[in-house]
Amino acid sequence: MTPGDEVVVALDVGGTGMKCALVRPDGATVHAERHATDAARGPEAVVGTILDVAEGLAGKARADGLTPVACGIAVPGVVDEARGVAVWSANVGFRDVPLRDLARERLDLPTALGHDVRVGGLAEARLGAGRDAGHVLFVAIGTGIAAAHVVDGAAAVGAHGAAGEIGHILVRPDGPPCGCGRPGCLEAVASASAIGRRYAELSGAPATAAEVADRAAAGEPLAGQVWREAVEALADGLATGQALFDVATIVIGGGLAQAGPRLFDPLRTALRERLTFHREPRLVAAALGDEAGCLGAALLALDTLAKESR
Ligand SMILES: [Zn+2]
Repeated sequence: MTPGDEVVVALDVGGTGMKCALVRPDGATVHAERHATDAARGPEAVVGTILDVAEGLAGKARADGLTPVACGIAVPGVVDEARGVAVWSANVGFRDVPLRDLARERLDLPTALGHDVRVGGLAEARLGAGRDAGHVLFVAIGTGIAAAHVVDGAAAVGAHGAAGEIGHILVRPDGPPCGCGRPGCLEAVASASAIGRRYAELSGAPATAAEVADRAAAGEPLAGQVWREAVEALADGLATGQALFDVATIVIGGGLAQAGPRLFDPLRTALRERLTFHREPRLVAAALGDEAGCLGAALLALDTLAKESR
């Protein structure tokens, strides 16, 4: 066996789909496949699919002359990485699933379980847009908003597996209700879903966040107002993040980052206006796209392997 033969079995499990790959230790993907999560089948069936897919990937690696050395699995929700337990997930339905041990037993490989956004941040900080920054805040903005604080290549997990919930920073006390049950959270104002919802509410016509961005850029006043309000709220949230973490780079990922300069130019200005003595972080778009979760799951598995062999 030469080191070039080693691969990690990596899975990024989302509410609708699973991104799966065989990843080399240097972060190169040698094989990728996608499967439906079909969460409506219930958590047991989803776990069954995760284990079958992981086993299939390990078999595929061996058939191709590669050596699977570890398995990394990323899931959404609250994840206890130390115990390897998917504690809670709204969109996949997990409640205290010991996914790490289940995968370890099935595959007979060292396995790590991580949180989808935290491992995405890990990948962006080590292989993507935050490379060489040391202190990175990765913020994923899509249907919700979540973050990962990565210092020297390791993402903070929190005492209860729930670090990084920047989407639930209170930014508008009189604002719209959040899925968590409280009004005015950042993600209730500035997530891609919230932007579309707000525009629909004011205009009476449905629109995606991308369409709101396009219309704002084309000079439509209502779209401009909705977009501006979201950018201001995001800047409030990021300023709080910077006050807490003092990072060198903030990496923005998720669907909203695709708005490009329409997001980044006003957001950079609004963030600058809110910082006083804090140093302004570099504000950049994520570089790894939707592969970040899979790559991060692989990195987490390799980190665990390195710790175990020490
Ligand atoms: Zn909330």
